[in-house]
Amino acid sequence: MLRLLHWTLELPMKPIADSYDCIVIGGGPAGSTVAALVAQAGFRTLLVEREQFPRRHVGESLMPDSYFVFQRLGMLEKLKASGFARKVGVQFVNHMGRESAPFLFRWNDPHEWSDTWHIPRPEFDQMMFENAAQHGAEAHQGVRVLDVLMDGDRATGVKLQYEGQNGEPLTRDVAARVVVDATGQSAILSNKLGLRRVNPALKKAAIWGHFRGAKRETSDGGVYTIVLHTNQRKSWFWYIPQADDVVSVGVVGDNDYMLKGRGTPREVFFEEVAKCAAVAQRLEGSEQVDELIVAKEFSYLTDRSAGDGWVLVGDAWGFIDPVYSSGVFFALKSGQMAADCIVEALRTGDLTAATLGRWVPEFSEKTNWIRKLVHAFYSGGFRVGKFVKEFPHHRGELTDLLIGRVFNDRVGKVFADLDPFLERMKHELPPDDPNAEPEDASVPAIA
Ligand SMILES: Cc1cc2nc3c(=O)[nH]c(=O)nc-3n(C[C@H](O)[C@H](O)[C@H](O)COP(=O)(O)OP(=O)(O)OC[C@H]3O[C@@H](n4cnc5c(N)ncnc54)[C@H](O)[C@@H]3O)c2cc1C
Repeated sequence: MLRLLHWTLELPMKPIADSYDCIVIGGGPAGSTVAALVAQAGFRTLLVEREQFPRRHVGESLMPDSYFVFQRLGMLEKLKASGFARKVGVQFVNHMGRESAPFLFRWNDPHEWSDTWHIPRPEFDQMMFENAAQHGAEAHQGVRVLDVLMDGDRATGVKLQYEGQNGEPLTRDVAARVVVDATGQSAILSNKLGLRRVNPALKKAAIWGHFRGAKRETSDGGVYTIVLHTNQRKSWFWYIPQADDVVSVGVVGDNDYMLKGRGTPREVFFEEVAKCAAVAQRLEGSEQVDELIVAKEFSYLTDRSAGDGWVLVGDAWGFIDPVYSSGVFFALKSGQMAADCIVEALRTGDLTAATLGRWVPEFSEKTNWIRKLVHAFYSGGFRVGKFVKEFPHHRGELTDLLIGRVFNDRVGKVFADLDPFLERMKHELPPDDPNAEPEDASVPAIA
């Protein structure tokens, strides 16, 4: 039983002051991470979130390497006590319905940090937000940032809007030495500065919702994230079992394929279910518990990630694709790396782009491994089973990628062989060849 469902925020609500060392816009995983760490270092930090928690949000399967950010944030014990479903691996099902042996994280690395969680975002984000407040951030819900104030290229504060005591809308300017855009896909600052670049190769849309009573496979008391292709590989499903017998199910495909001339999101969703026997069987007898939501064109990059007095983190920095469940981990990790640079900048008084953005080159380089894997997934030539059979020494590195262990040098080695392999596959096995070897059915659990 999930132990957080009736949790309510009990934050000490100080009135918002006229100026702060750091203002963080957006109380998702990235914003709450930055705010917690900057406040913990002793700097006056304001964290503002426009919504009231708990609020619904996509992105429920974590990568295990989130563990180390949670450790720094003091979140581990709270997560262990949360009752959230434990994620122990990832499984792939190909377009012919062949199911891979799951990639079990502990088989790759038998430590507690190799497991993670499937998180209900309303409760998880609320926990993170409250955690930031416990670390000393002044955390306010129901406060919207209307604009980031600039003096030339330098950010100087924000224009806030919130309800006054009698429900009247109040607007005011608040100054900051550093402004952090953690507004997720809203990307308030990168939109204002025209920094956002949509990835034309990944113009995707998703339709998702929650079901109760659907099938769930368990292993060692935990569950897997399952990635399942539909029969013609025009779309794929995520299947993320959560606590309380709930499963998050979403379908992802090209934007035009999913949304142009095909009826309501509900009709499209169930048409795609009918094209994926492995999902249809799992959903048999289940009950849909909330409305289906559409997300679209969510993959983009930003040209710059920091400037004088400002930084972008999490989805405001960029988002790759949902297939490997990397979004929340990268939100947490970018939040942590940016926070360390912000603290250094505030200590030294050097609030330039160079100091605030010192984390960016490493972060961009390492997250690029996942970007490459995403393009491999959509190329149609990434037959994991065949690849692992040919290159068994890469099994561990492949699992490392699924764990999110990209911030070390080991994983990069896999691409020395994967890149030419993908090139070869393009010619050897056309994506829709019914005689093609099942994508990964022959993959034994990773040793
Ligand atoms: C279809 C899809 C499936 C996904 N699946 C996964 C998955 O399985 N696993 C995974 O790890 N990731 C997944 N993701 C990615 C994940 O949702 C994001 O990467 C993650 O939520 C980013 O966190 P964030 O803190 O940067 O932004 P968010 O979590 O979006 O938080 C931003 C916050 O800022 C607030 N905000 C926005 N504008 C303002 C404003 N003007 N003033 C004040 N507050 C504001 C918003 O209300 C929001 O609470 C998925 C994404 C998509 C699109």
